[in-house]
Amino acid sequence: MNFDLTDEQRMIAEYGQNLAKTYDRKYWLDCARAHRFPEDMYQQVAQDGFVGMLVPEAYGGGGLGMTDMALFLEGLSNEGIPLLSLVIGAAMSLSPIGDHGTEEQKQKYLPACCAGEKRFCFAITEPTAGTNTIQITTIAKKKGERYSLSGAKTFITDFAESDYALVVARTTPHTEVSKKTDGFTLFLVDTKAKGVDCAAIPVSIPMPEKQYQVFFDEVDLGPEDILGEEGKGFEILFESLNPERILVGSICTGLGRYALERAVEYASERVVFKGPIGAYQGLQHPLAAAKSEIEMASLMTMKAAWLFDQGLPSGAEANMAKYFAAEAGIHAVDSSLQCFGGNGFTEEYGIFDIYPIVRLLKTAPLNREMILNYIGEHVMGLPRSY
Ligand SMILES: Cc1cc2nc3c(=O)[nH]c(=O)nc-3n(C[C@H](O)[C@H](O)[C@H](O)COP(=O)(O)OP(=O)(O)OC[C@H]3O[C@@H](n4cnc5c(N)ncnc54)[C@H](O)[C@@H]3O)c2cc1C
Repeated sequence: MNFDLTDEQRMIAEYGQNLAKTYDRKYWLDCARAHRFPEDMYQQVAQDGFVGMLVPEAYGGGGLGMTDMALFLEGLSNEGIPLLSLVIGAAMSLSPIGDHGTEEQKQKYLPACCAGEKRFCFAITEPTAGTNTIQITTIAKKKGERYSLSGAKTFITDFAESDYALVVARTTPHTEVSKKTDGFTLFLVDTKAKGVDCAAIPVSIPMPEKQYQVFFDEVDLGPEDILGEEGKGFEILFESLNPERILVGSICTGLGRYALERAVEYASERVVFKGPIGAYQGLQHPLAAAKSEIEMASLMTMKAAWLFDQGLPSGAEANMAKYFAAEAGIHAVDSSLQCFGGNGFTEEYGIFDIYPIVRLLKTAPLNREMILNYIGEHVMGLPRSY
């Protein structure tokens, strides 16, 4: 593993610092508290070439790798800006289209999305199946050469704000396949198409992205809307699991650093007895422990990204990175919060506001228990627990 960053990677990692001069944490928090998408900032990020980082240059992207994307998201999160929509849109949707789309699909979707003119969301979770993705029931029934999509999805981030959705559906019900991962098909769906409806799910987290329940009622789709092969969608899906975990790891470590840096500033100045409160070991040691955890989580995240870029197996490292980064992020925010006393809970200081988002990332996109199931079963060879 190479620890030396190239000049370009250093620039990517530091991009967040420059962006934050215009779009800082306050801008982000204003958007988050109002559940308003940070459109101006997103346009700037797109214009600077970062929305399409993982998309080939021939289609308006940057042609860069997972390490670059992880450095970028970590750098933004270091400034307190967790741009989750890039995990969902850029990594989970644009990247698979770049890898598996037909020439027509690439031309239709990628340049406009990289330029920030159009956006994608990603829809797999269903109210009944939940974590058990195999049992999703949203189905695209074949009608001659075309398909009729019906079913429901839940917690789909920014569905109404997006132009397209990458929808995971079944073309064969799970009860009729011999191999449980067969029969999945990925569809590129226009979110405004006839038969598509959605309803907002209010969530208690200050985050700019909104969440939706989505309903498909006999939505007409053609073969041109299928990404990859009919019935073989799970293979494409499987490829995007490690990137998702790596990038969530980057966001958690960045947010942890942001919280710790604010704590160091505050605890170095705040005096209530003799010296600054940062001199008390009761505050200093939790901060030092959290700092160590964050840097270790960051290393594992970068290792996973590097392995991924080399085309080497990265499942073990990606899962460990996601697990540990979420835990480390939560610990960092909690340790930071303690230093702020009552001020930590005020809107002015905005420290408590970091907590809900890092805590979310322990549960979603994939919960801690499924991550540990993976490590127990696939990394350590323990018997399957579920
Ligand atoms: C803010 C937000 C944004 C989201 N964005 C998206 C999105 O854009 N697209 C999308 O498709 N989905 C999205 N999701 C859905 C998210 O991925 C799921 O909520 C998550 O995977 C958990 O599924 P569930 O809510 O159905 O929980 P359930 O499946 O009901 O599980 C509940 C809990 O049970 C435990 N559990 C479940 N199975 C096991 C097991 N086998 N072993 C041990 N413990 C287990 C876990 O602790 C889990 O947290 C989002 C969710 C949220 C909250």
